[in-house]
Amino acid sequence: MRSNGGVTTTPRPDAPALADLRTRFAAMWAALEPVGRDGRSGGYRRFAWTREDHDLREWFAAECRARGLDLTTDRMGNQWAWWGDPDAAPAGGNKRGGNERGGGKGIVTGSHLDSVPDGGAFDGPLGVVSALLAIDALRAKGFEPHRPIGIVNFVDEEGARFGVACAGSRVITGAMTADRARSLTDADGTSMAEALRAAGRNPDALGPDPETLRRIGTFVELHVEQGRALDLLDEETPVAVGSDIWPHGRWRVDLAGEANHAGTTRLADREDAMLGYAATVLAARSAAEARGCVATVGKVAVTPGGVNAIPSHVTGWLDARGADADAVRAAVQDVRAVAEQHGGVVTEESWTPTTAFDPGLVRRLATRLGGIPVLGTGAGHDAGILANAGVRSAMLFVRNPTGVSHSPQEWADPADCVAGVEALTSVLEDLAGGAR
Ligand SMILES: [Zn+2]
Repeated sequence: MRSNGGVTTTPRPDAPALADLRTRFAAMWAALEPVGRDGRSGGYRRFAWTREDHDLREWFAAECRARGLDLTTDRMGNQWAWWGDPDAAPAGGNKRGGNERGGGKGIVTGSHLDSVPDGGAFDGPLGVVSALLAIDALRAKGFEPHRPIGIVNFVDEEGARFGVACAGSRVITGAMTADRARSLTDADGTSMAEALRAAGRNPDALGPDPETLRRIGTFVELHVEQGRALDLLDEETPVAVGSDIWPHGRWRVDLAGEANHAGTTRLADREDAMLGYAATVLAARSAAEARGCVATVGKVAVTPGGVNAIPSHVTGWLDARGADADAVRAAVQDVRAVAEQHGGVVTEESWTPTTAFDPGLVRRLATRLGGIPVLGTGAGHDAGILANAGVRSAMLFVRNPTGVSHSPQEWADPADCVAGVEALTSVLEDLAGGAR
């Protein structure tokens, strides 16, 4: 970090009044809008270590530079921008704040800029844009933080390219090993190591990054809500506090058959991998219903992939989640049993246990914001990975009127987005300004 340290205390002359937030928000949104947007679907294709990802990282760096923030990149390539120096000795404290709850020195916010295939505009970018605008709003007030404030842009949160969600936070916390990350491959067979090299990064640098984690005293991620809890509540509540994340995992299902001609091969002679796959997909649905959780098979690869060829191999990916970890595990066992009856193999790709955000922090945020609702969610987030690594974390959710997410239809009203920025501003003011 920079050696001269200290916290900027002079409001920037161009810092906006709160009334300008909506205009500022619209301008930043417009700058991001074309990056990775599919002309036909209107959805986004922003995948880790691609051209689009590069452009988004450059945009983030430029926004941080324009605000005079100190930008660093950790061992995985996540970008961190600091207002104040998290490595400087705190007044009356020890040099290294430590990562124990309540310890550490920085108040960090932010989210991610990547997307799922044909994703929406809000999942991720809303948290990054809101973080930058919250800093503007704090400076407009002449706020002087007692603790440094950081903004993070986590890389590869969706796992759209290499199959493991929250890869950026998993690697720096050690939840995923560097070897595993490097060897993950995308649909074209490109490994993450190769993708990193092509993007000008050194894959050998990957690994746990305690130095980066030590700087985070508290992490608050703002995110568009991915359900309708707020919409169904009332008209006056555009923001909620996230209390916990359901346990969730991903499994790969492989079924083997034998390729042959779709016209000349008698039904009795076929070894059709698709049949076992179909049974497995239906089993996932009924297991989820029986166990009270949710299960989805949303990605499939068929070999050879010809309309007139019997499939010799089908690989599908199962995503399962629920409030109760045992129920999710049981549902996946049900699916595994059916897949194995058809000669299939089910391999666990990731498992994230129930994540409870810091209860004291959740209460503090909800109280600070006037007693707003507290919600659990079925969606995974980097905030959850950090919480499981012992970082004091929580989330803010901004209302989504349809609840649709991971789709071009994902939406949040501009007024609600500004309410989110104001809530985040208030939370940062509380956490970074207080002596607690
Ligand atoms: Zn997200």
